[in-house]
Amino acid sequence: MFKGEAMAIREIVTHPNEILRRKAHKVESFGNELQVLIDDMVETMRAEPGVGLAAPQVGVPLRLIVVEYGEDEHPEAAPKLYVMANPEISKASTETEVGVEGCLSIPGFIGEVERSLEIVVRGQNRHGKAMKVKAKGWLARIFQHEIDHLNGILFIDRTDKVWKVEDEAERAQATAGD
Ligand code: ZN
Repeated sequence: MFKGEAMAIREIVTHPNEILRRKAHKVESFGNELQVLIDDMVETMRAEPGVGLAAPQVGVPLRLIVVEYGEDEHPEAAPKLYVMANPEISKASTETEVGVEGCLSIPGFIGEVERSLEIVVRGQNRHGKAMKVKAKGWLARIFQHEIDHLNGILFIDRTDKVWKVEDEAERAQATAGD
């Protein structure tokens, strides 16, 4: 992103669009086009608002996610922004937790999903440098939800307990996920 260039909010692709069901491609180029996509994804996530977003959700079949959420242990701290290309879960705890998730691509519905309580994610930052994130609780849940998107998996595939929410404010308040 060059100074003065306007960021843009992108349109969210919604279920059952088949883009959401494809396996996304590896990010190979970290040039200007990717930088613009990342900035747009961050702006789109914040505008919705959501706590995470995967590139296929804005119609781009790349292995790229953005996550912005505060650590469970430090609720007073400002939320931290993670930008990750080619994220892979390298470790996942056998201990799991059931939590309520929503998804910007499935507006109006939330559901209970079982996820690993703690994970380690390895990938690359926005410039292609190797990075690693250790996440626990809700942050770990968000990463698992976003990485699922890169493999064409939606939270509704992982649970039978899905229900409709009356308004989007309730969804935003009650849920992790994007
Ligand atoms: Zn989602």
